[in-house]
Amino acid sequence: MTYAECGMKNTAIFHITNNGLELSERLKSELPGAEILKFSAAAVEKQWKNNASLVFIMATGIVVRTIAPLLKDKKTDPAVVVIDDAGKYVISLAGGHLGGANDLARKVAGMIKGEAVITTASDVNGLTAIDLWARDHDLVVENDNLLPLVGTRYVNNGALRVYPDQGLELQLPDDFLRVAEPRQADVIITNRRNAYGETPENEGDGDKCTIDTCRVKGQLYLRPRNLVVGIGCNSGTPAEEIEAAVASTFAEHNLAFLSLCCAATIDIKAEEPGLVGFVRKQGLLLRTFRAEELNSVKGITPSDIVLQATGAIGVAEPAALLAAGEGRLLVQKQKKGNVTVAIAIKTEQSAECGVGKKDAKEARKGRIFVVGTGPGSLEHLTPAAREAIRHADVIVGYGTYLDLIQDLLKDKEVLSTGMTQEVDRCRKAVELARTGRTVAVISGGDPGVYAMAGLVFEVLRSAECGMRNAECNKEINGKTAIPVEVIPGISALNAAASRLGAPLMHDFACISLSDRLTPWEMIEKRLDAAAAADFVIVLYNPRSKGRAGHINRAREIVLKHRAAATVVGIVKGAMREQEQVIVTDLGHMQDSDIDMQTTVVIGNSKTFRWNDLMITPRGYERKFDI
Ligand code: SAH
Repeated sequence: MTYAECGMKNTAIFHITNNGLELSERLKSELPGAEILKFSAAAVEKQWKNNASLVFIMATGIVVRTIAPLLKDKKTDPAVVVIDDAGKYVISLAGGHLGGANDLARKVAGMIKGEAVITTASDVNGLTAIDLWARDHDLVVENDNLLPLVGTRYVNNGALRVYPDQGLELQLPDDFLRVAEPRQADVIITNRRNAYGETPENEGDGDKCTIDTCRVKGQLYLRPRNLVVGIGCNSGTPAEEIEAAVASTFAEHNLAFLSLCCAATIDIKAEEPGLVGFVRKQGLLLRTFRAEELNSVKGITPSDIVLQATGAIGVAEPAALLAAGEGRLLVQKQKKGNVTVAIAIKTEQSAECGVGKKDAKEARKGRIFVVGTGPGSLEHLTPAAREAIRHADVIVGYGTYLDLIQDLLKDKEVLSTGMTQEVDRCRKAVELARTGRTVAVISGGDPGVYAMAGLVFEVLRSAECGMRNAECNKEINGKTAIPVEVIPGISALNAAASRLGAPLMHDFACISLSDRLTPWEMIEKRLDAAAAADFVIVLYNPRSKGRAGHINRAREIVLKHRAAATVVGIVKGAMREQEQVIVTDLGHMQDSDIDMQTTVVIGNSKTFRWNDLMITPRGYERKFDI
């Protein structure tokens, strides 16, 4: 999967002069997925269409003239950043908030030791950016054309008057002022289409509005995605009819369609073309339930006809309630032609329903990065890993590894659990990603080497088949519902080998001595086979409290096939503060302190020791005169 496919934007760096080119190269080394391009209007247009973030190293005037015909609106414009030729100023020119230009300008300024120039009013006044806050709280902005007006009032007043519907558990920032009535608010957070019901009130004059006379002029609606629609339909009902039935039910009950977060039905309708077409068009997740599950729901209106046709006493109402988790029914079932519709409200952001409202756009589509942080110190963390962590809303990991990268975790939500709770950690990550969050699951070393990557996929796979009540191997539209990108890291074997010299120059086998998940007999069998085949052997998890004897047993097995003089390298805490490197041999290795932070490398029959280094020859000496 490419960077862009996983939702991370590529960066195009345009230059004109040689200085610009040099600066571009410096930036490219630190911006994963960046591309250097010679400036031309056509190249800019192409990158604009690719939705790349754009960095220009040239005069602002050139950039303004070039992008003028391409600019559309703040929701869709990409980040545009301009740097002067000497790299002194890094200007966030357009797409400051949702485009990410302010963040990019700050980041680039940090890299080239320049000064970021940010002009968005909320930032310079130290106020919360309304659009970003909404996005981060899973609220869809309904009338974005009002953002500038409301934003100006907010900056002028130094506070934003906000009315959230009762029951919405939202923590408001300090500069948001909670008001008691919708009419007093600059921003109304509600799933009700019109916060004033049937009687729209007169608009007043912005700040001068008093409660008695009128309501604030130009109110911004933010829609919480907390409604679930339960749908029953006859076979062959077209998508348009289903959409019309749902839309009219929402309208009749004064509910905002943008608050719809998922649809639910009975499992036998999972492949119903009209229903599938409707949810695809709306970017909704379709949850399906078996008849027994639907029948277990209390307090619904039963129907004999439905029972005969499906085996369930009802579909729309119980399906909506089940998908809403701890929710309650807001609209009882409404029969509209071939379609039955019921609406439930989630009282809490339940995980299953959070995926995919298109309006929240790709930016809110949850995803998981499984990130390898390398052996320890920050300089061995790759720029791509750093970027993924920066991009994440939530970090899920295990204490020790998180400690090693704590500098990167400031202002992040961090969920930390013990080492043996990795299944819980993965489940939690999947759950969070489903609610639209970007989650970084952290592993030490490489995430795909005795670590979290495989487990994330296993948990995701079983969660997806559980949700669809279908066979596990069936993919949804050919891809997993939640995109996952594995970001590689330097594994302990790379770190240890580099400290030892070059022990892995020839074929090697890597074996973990942990029998927590693998039977010990299997481990012995692999040790024996690798030793017999003269592989260099790398041992991970060589010792823990519960299994102090395993490393000695491994040594005995290898000694059956190799001389006691075989070189052995022991690296403890590679690339960490208390690093220790020992080069010894099979005969003496048990004298060294080997613990869980240690990687052991046992040479093959050709491995030699030189200047306290461990080197496995590749065979050059037979071919060349060296
Ligand atoms: N995913 C990790 C491995 C996890 S298994 C990776 O790719 O490195 C844990 C084992 O890795 C430890 O018991 C130890 O054998 C090894 N290990 C991890 N970090 C290490 C380090 N900094 N120095 C030496 N060995 C290390």
